[in-house]
Amino acid sequence: MNQHSFIPFHRPEIDGAEIDAVTSTLRSGWLTTGARTAQFEKEFRDYIGAKDALALNSGTAALHLALAALGIGPGDEVITTPLTFCATVTAIMHVGAKPVLADIGADGNIDPACIEQKITARTRAVIPVHFAGAPCQMDQIWALAKKYDLFVVEDAAHAAGTLYRDRHVGAESFASDAVAFSFYATKNMTTGEGGMITANSEALLARMRILALHGINRDAWGRYRESGNWYYQVLEAGFKYNLSDLQSAIGIQQLHKLERFIEKRTQYADLYNQLLGGIEELEVPQPARNGRHSWHLYVLRLNLEELSINRAAFVSELRGRCIGASVHFIPIPLHPFFQDHATRPENDCPQCFELYPRLISLPLYPSMAEEEVCYVADSVREIVETFRKPRLTAAPMGTGHAGQWSPL
Ligand SMILES: *Cc1c(COP(=O)(O)O)cnc(C)c1O
Repeated sequence: MNQHSFIPFHRPEIDGAEIDAVTSTLRSGWLTTGARTAQFEKEFRDYIGAKDALALNSGTAALHLALAALGIGPGDEVITTPLTFCATVTAIMHVGAKPVLADIGADGNIDPACIEQKITARTRAVIPVHFAGAPCQMDQIWALAKKYDLFVVEDAAHAAGTLYRDRHVGAESFASDAVAFSFYATKNMTTGEGGMITANSEALLARMRILALHGINRDAWGRYRESGNWYYQVLEAGFKYNLSDLQSAIGIQQLHKLERFIEKRTQYADLYNQLLGGIEELEVPQPARNGRHSWHLYVLRLNLEELSINRAAFVSELRGRCIGASVHFIPIPLHPFFQDHATRPENDCPQCFELYPRLISLPLYPSMAEEEVCYVADSVREIVETFRKPRLTAAPMGTGHAGQWSPL
């Protein structure tokens, strides 16, 4: 159809800085959690303005660890959004608690009013997800948490660099109990695989630090620094969630670039919006009004009633033009596993189900060239123009427009 080289849905931005950092870590003789991880935690904490931070081997581990350390378990209910990655929900199930889904609002984030409807005597926590990098309505969520005595664990997998009002998601002055970040390959910054948790309570962070490494009270790096003191104690049945120095070395370099990455993402999101904003068959994502969108994802909404193709065909058309698109997310209750386990019937999240068939995520990442962004936008426009439904406008009599073909 055309000669453009393939534009993948994502391509990580890695250069000599990360490669040199990994090489020097390999040469250092210390590969597991050590000085580089400690430095990564400190730099991340300072960037976010968090009280403290703990590096982990995934965002999923961060969510699970937070719920485990908060003592959430069997008999408890945890409220989250249906428009998320499965890990948000499986983390709840892995501590033995019951996931309860509260519907989304117009912005795609969990709707605080829907959260309140789902609160029962068993509810212990809420996990808001900052979908695509747009901050949730945290003031309302914290107010609910206070009113009903709930924990708040933020799923900030998309939100490294997202500001809520004028501070970073995860900042110390905010009321959440823990905030879980992901450094998966496609996220705003990456360590290949990895994660971080920030928390305000020193006691909670200390407990998570122990649980993250087999329930052991002093890690190998600590023992090494204490001149080879070999003694340690296992205090509880922990997990194996620590981040290696190899990954932390990458993370430090990525963190140094994060603001630049977000600037680029924002610039490209603005460009997409400029090029696609006037097209009636599309609804473009809006910048955040309650903070700074980090633009992890650029999620377009199709106005399907104005198009003669569905989303799957739209994705295929993009593929035919050498563009990788994706969908975020398949709603949780639509997966076979969760059909049996979701505590409410699927029609309890009507907004999410209405939105899902319309969602399409376009490529958006700092290693894209501006020309590639323009090519993707041109291709989207071309597909819309090819598959636009001819519409007979039903204007009222006497306006002079009745029966006119849509001028679009
Ligand atoms: C990526 C992601 C996670 C999981 O993070 P991993 O680091 O891959 O474990 C959790 N929640 C959401 C919303 C995500 O997008």
